Amino acid sequence: MSAIEINNLNKKYKRTSAVKNINFKISKGKTIGLLGPNGCGKSTTLGMILGLIKPTSGSVLINGENIENNRTNLLEKMNFISPYIELPKKLTVEENLKVYGKLYGVKNLKNKISELMEVLNLTEFGNRKTGELSSGQKNRVSLAKALINDPEILLLDEPTASLDPDVGDYVRGIIEKFASKNNSTILLASHNMNEVERLCDEVLMMKNGEIIDQGKSNNLISKHGRKNLEEVFLKIVRS
Ligand code: ADP
Ligand code: MG
Repeated sequence: MSAIEINNLNKKYKRTSAVKNINFKISKGKTIGLLGPNGCGKSTTLGMILGLIKPTSGSVLINGENIENNRTNLLEKMNFISPYIELPKKLTVEENLKVYGKLYGVKNLKNKISELMEVLNLTEFGNRKTGELSSGQKNRVSLAKALINDPEILLLDEPTASLDPDVGDYVRGIIEKFASKNNSTILLASHNMNEVERLCDEVLMMKNGEIIDQGKSNNLISKHGRKNLEEVFLKIVRS
C-alpha cells in the first residue's frame, strides 16, 4: 500500500484549471520532489492532499484511506509547511509550538519543544511574538511546528525559500536527518534544484496543472540530455 495515492485529481477554479487529472503513488519512506514553474499547481496539489482544498474531482488516499472522510485520523500522522496556513502572529514561538503540540497530542511536549528549538536555532526567540520575526526565522518556526508530531507523512511547500544559503543548507540537513531517522514519507515542492537532487529519491515535474515527466533525477538528466536538473527544468518549462 502506498503512503500517498492520488487518483485522477482535478481542481478547477472559475478562471483556471489549477490541477488537471493527475495520478501518482508514493511508497512509504520515500522523499519525492514536486517541481514546476510558478502557478503550475504545486501548492494546490499539496493543499488537496492535506484536505485543505476540496478537489473538483478525484481522490487522495493516505495509507489507503480517503482523506475526505478520514481527515481527523489521518492528519494526526501528517504535518506540513504550507503558505495557506500561517502561525498565529501574536503568540510567542514557544506558545505556538505548545498549541500545535497539544493539538497533535505530543507526549513529553516540553522536551520536544526545547529539542526542536535547539536544533533549529530558535532558543533565543522562544519568548518573541511569531509575527515579529524575520521571514527566515518564521520559516524555522514553521519547520519546528511541522516536525512536532514526528509525522509519518510530511508535506513541504518550498520550505527553504526564504532562507539564506547557510541556513538553507542547515535546514536541508535537518529534513534529511528527520527523514532517515523516522522513515517518513515526504513530498517536497521546491525551486531549489540542489535541494531536490540532495533530498529526493524521485521527482514529479508539473506544468500547467499536469505531471509531464517523472523519475530519478539522474535518469531525467540523461533522458533529456542535460547536465543537471536545473537544465532539465528550463528545457521543460520553455518547450
Ligand atoms: P504553484 O504552487 O505551482 O505556484 P498554485 O497551485 O498556487 O501554483 O496555483 C495554480 C493555479 O491556480 C494558478 O494559476 C493560480 O493562479 C490558481 N489558483 C490558486 N489558488 C486559487 C484560488 N484560490 N482561486 C483562484 N485561482 C487560484
Ligand atoms: Mg506554490
